Amino acid sequence: MDQQPHPRENRLIVVSNRLPCVLEKEPAGNWRVVAGSGGLVTALHPVLRDRGGVWIGWSGAVEDPAEIAEVLRAHDRDVGYELRAVPINREEVERYYHGYSNEILWPLFHDLQSQCDFLPDYWHTYVKINRRFAEKVAADLRPSDFIWVHDYQLIDVAHHLRELGVTNRLAFFLHTPFPPPDIFLKLPEWHVLLRSLMAYDFVGVQTQRDRHNLVHCIRRLLKDAHVKAEGHLHRVTLDGRDSHVASFPIGIDFQDFAVAAAAPEVESMVQAIREHNRGSRLVLGVDRLDYTKGIPHRLRAFANLLERFPEVRGRVTLVQVVVPSRIGIPKYDALKVHIEQLVSEINGRYSSVDWIPVHYVFRSLGRDELLGYYRACHIALVTPLKDGMNLVCKEYCACSLEQDSVLILSQFAGAAAQLGRSALLVNPNDVEQMADAIYKAMRMPQADRRRRMRRLRRNVYEHDIHWWVNSFMRAVIDKELKDFPVLEEFVLPFDGQQWSRAVEE
Ligand code: UDP
Repeated sequence: MDQQPHPRENRLIVVSNRLPCVLEKEPAGNWRVVAGSGGLVTALHPVLRDRGGVWIGWSGAVEDPAEIAEVLRAHDRDVGYELRAVPINREEVERYYHGYSNEILWPLFHDLQSQCDFLPDYWHTYVKINRRFAEKVAADLRPSDFIWVHDYQLIDVAHHLRELGVTNRLAFFLHTPFPPPDIFLKLPEWHVLLRSLMAYDFVGVQTQRDRHNLVHCIRRLLKDAHVKAEGHLHRVTLDGRDSHVASFPIGIDFQDFAVAAAAPEVESMVQAIREHNRGSRLVLGVDRLDYTKGIPHRLRAFANLLERFPEVRGRVTLVQVVVPSRIGIPKYDALKVHIEQLVSEINGRYSSVDWIPVHYVFRSLGRDELLGYYRACHIALVTPLKDGMNLVCKEYCACSLEQDSVLILSQFAGAAAQLGRSALLVNPNDVEQMADAIYKAMRMPQADRRRRMRRLRRNVYEHDIHWWVNSFMRAVIDKELKDFPVLEEFVLPFDGQQWSRAVEE
């Protein structure tokens, strides 16, 4: 481990399962670097851009690590920070990523334990890969580096870093929800993961709900831990060291969305969408293909609306965008088929000569198109069964430039804690309540719509991505974003539009 002082102090080392880009091998044999997407990339890219630092993660490719490292080095200057890849082979991807992370931790942390597939092999590979990430971090570390590890795939990294003798400040942020003790206990390895979490100096979660659940788990399950509430933090003393737990709702780059939404290209898109759906109130759903997003429930709610309130037929259209994700995994493939059956049933039953109730899109959208839908649709229907935060609802508010649209939001989205007062809150399992909420949103007086949307936008604006990073860093290392200044040599033109491209995760 290189512990020599270096002129570049305060490097930020971000560690996440995926690098913020995907490598694709073209038929001619050369590599193409494609920018990634998803909540985490969208959130952290503006933070690291042009500030130096390092992002450590898997490239998404399983080919020769030396070749990958070479391709990434060439790409560093384009993104504005160093990209360091952790190699993971095909079999390890199956067990660590698709297996332990996505077939166990993902459903369990979203309270869907019936979807879990508890295979022992998955766990062993999860530990092995977390160790590999830790070794990559430790390989080129400076004493002043601040290490920020992200999400459920990498909970165990701190434990390995400590074993490797790393004493730097380590922080972790969990982007998913954290479950209550009775669900967390179902995890065969709960005790290892809970202790690993406490090897970080600081653990950030999205909402008070998650903090409450985590602290409750520690209190109930770790008998040798001492927990003390200190204002907004909880201090946990375990094995002679302190760790802190606090909640920080992640935000979006509000300004970026609001400015981009006003662009002429988006404006023309809005005109085209509205023209095509003249006379219809447009209701928007935008989700990655995932069973936590409650897409079938939402479609059933829309059908329920059309059935119970026949007067809205021909006057409301649901635009449902589903972004391909985890394709090839049977559960996800089955979900896609189920969604498409429901869309067909609704369209088959209610369509008329000049109106199709559900406008269904199964692909990732370009940024202008996404912003066009955000702006053109009068109502957003964001109804996950459970979600760590949900960025789509925040992006929708940021793009509501006319401040004349309505947000219907699941009470189980992390965002509900912030936006619940001005949105129409619903239980995503209650299709009649969701149908009623759409009906109410369609009939809501303009003054009410504007009042609510203004409040929503102010909240999203005040708690944007910069606020999130600053609050997190202040709490963890008593520093702010400005303490990681822009490096002149890294200021390069960068096409932000690339970053809205979705990748299959
Ligand atoms: N998104 C995208 N391509 C699309 C549609 C959406 O990249 O075609 C982005 C969207 O802008 C948002 C993210 O995907 O930033 C979804 O984040 P969210 O927190 O709502 O859900 P997640 O997919 O992370 O669970």
